[in-house]
Order: sequence, then structure tokens, then C-alpha cells
Amino acid sequence: MIVVLKSHSSDREIKKVENHVRKLGYQPHTIRGVVRTVIAAVGDETVKRSLEILESLPSVERVIPIQKRYKLVSREAQEKTTVIPVGPIEIGSGVFHIIAGPCSVESREQMLATADAVAAAGATMLRGGAFKPRTSPYDFQGLGASALHILAEAKERTGLPIVSEVIRETDIELMIDVVDIFQIGARNAMNYSLLEEVARSGKPVLLKRGLASTVEEWLLAAEYLAKNGNHNVILCERGIRTYEQATRNTFDASAVALAKLECNLPVFVDPSHATGRVDLIPAISKAAVAAGADGLMIEVHPHPESAYSDSSQQLTPREFSDLVRSIQPFVKAAGMKMGVIQRHKRR
Ligand code: PEP
Ligand code: MN
Repeated sequence: MIVVLKSHSSDREIKKVENHVRKLGYQPHTIRGVVRTVIAAVGDETVKRSLEILESLPSVERVIPIQKRYKLVSREAQEKTTVIPVGPIEIGSGVFHIIAGPCSVESREQMLATADAVAAAGATMLRGGAFKPRTSPYDFQGLGASALHILAEAKERTGLPIVSEVIRETDIELMIDVVDIFQIGARNAMNYSLLEEVARSGKPVLLKRGLASTVEEWLLAAEYLAKNGNHNVILCERGIRTYEQATRNTFDASAVALAKLECNLPVFVDPSHATGRVDLIPAISKAAVAAGADGLMIEVHPHPESAYSDSSQQLTPREFSDLVRSIQPFVKAAGMKMGVIQRHKRR
């Protein structure tokens, strides 16, 4: 970190700051200019207290961090993208994967029909919300535990790993045998106690970007997971809140490219929640590939018009199958292969 002192600081003031730097466990290297003095404080910030506290000293103007605040998940710490094994597939290995399924598990019939259709169309993971974090308390909150039995059956039938959202710590135990990837939703992207507990479960995590999270806040949320022993984290850009009303959220393509550049974790894009519009999903899916994404998460429902949640953004199985076909040349152009899964024998 660099500690910038106020102009014309006295020798006594400089010494005092140097002593504080030493007390916090860093080695001070002082550079005296004509007007201003700066102190370079050398030490590992992951194990020592932050020097930002020095900003409270009257002679200190600013403390500037040099290292990234997220450390374990940065490319600085690990140059190669983390490869995450999930059942029969690997995420982040240059193979493009698609998670597909309904917003919410509504019934056995609806989930199994969707699972069969998306598996046949080329999805390599299944999604389905059992516990739904709805903005309104009057909206469908998910089937809960009974949805987990249905997801287990869908997994057994298709061989596809299951991605499902966990909204509270106490559900982890209930979900752990069925779910292959715990999804942390946008609304919980800053629920740090939930992040810590989910990290300790040892399961891979799909971490959505918060509704109003900066890229740094998103990566720091991932850092919570890594710091608590779980590096199997997939970032997921799902659009952010802006003044735009024409789309549900605003897809932030630069955040995808930036996360790929700065962070060693695989990055997925969820065009369903990013746009909220079926007619924009194909274009944003292609944009995601071009921005460097490792995969997509797409909502699919056999009858979107009667879905219990997010009806305006769910693709029909036919639309999903067309989408998969339409992105294939883009995936190839990006130097990746489409993920495939060995299909289980159907019963
Ligand atoms: C979802 O995936 O259904 C969901 C609620 O997503 P988000 O947290 O991104 O809103
Ligand atoms: Mn949804």
C-alpha cells in the first residue's frame, strides 16, 4: 500500500506515520519529495490488518492499495482459470456449458418434461428453483423440499447435474444430497454469512452478481467463498439495475470481459434475468460468448405463459433448441467446444 502524506508534513509527523506502519506489521519505505512525502508499506495484506486505518491520522491524506482487494480469486494469485469438476463435466476448461431449466420447479410433470427437452437440445446442467427469493411476499415462493425430490428424479433420468438456489443457511443440509451446484442469487450476493456457510458445504457455487454490485463487490463476494475454503466458484452476470426500463436489467458485457481478465474463476451469463425478454435472449447469448463467457444459464418452461414465476423470460423447449443451434458457430469462433454429456439410458 502507498500512504500519501499531506503536503509539507514535518519530520516528526513522517516518523509517527512510519512507526504506525511498522506497528501494523509492514516495512515502511519513505520517499521524500519537495512538497509531499509518500510511504510505500511492504507486506502481505492477506495476513495483516489493512493500513486504511492510517487515514484517520491528521498528517495522512490517502492510503492507496496496490494489490487487488480480492486476492485468492485474482489472476495475480493464479494465472490459469479454475477448472471445476461437476459430476460428469468440467467447467472452465475451454468447453462451453449451458445450464437450462425452469425458473421454479412447479410440478413433477413440468420439471421432467423440461429436463428431457433441454437435455436433448444440448444443455449439460439442469436448473430449477425449489426455494424462490421473490420480491413480493405474495408471489410463489417455491415448492420447497418436495421440489428437491423432483430435481433428484430429473437428475437420475437425464444424468445432468443440478443447479438450484439456496436462500438460507438452514436449507443447505436439506439440499446437499440433490444439488450439485448451489446458486447464490442476486438478492443474496452480499449475504456474507450465507456465503461462508455455503463455502463450507464444499459444493461448487454459482454466484450471481448482485442487483447493484460493482464488479469489485462481486469479486469480493467470490473472495468470501474462496477464503472460506471453497475455490469452486462460477461467477454469473445476470444484469444490473440501471435507469433503463426497456429491459428487466441491463446486461453488462464489459463486466464479463473484465471478470475474465481480472479473476481466475469461470464466468457464466444469464441472459434470461439480464433482459427479461425472450426476444433478446439469442442476441445476448451470442454477446456473452464474444465477451469471453464460459457458459450460459437459460430459463426454459414447457408453457411459459402459465409459469408461476418469470413467465415473460422463459423460452419454450423449441426456442431453447434453436438458441443452442444458433450459438454453436459463435462458440466455435471463440475457440471453444460445446459441452456434451453422455446420456443415461432412459427408463
Ligand atoms: C433465478 O435464477 O431464478 C433468480 C432468482 O435469479 P437472480 O438471483 O439473478 O434474480
Ligand atoms: Mn427466474
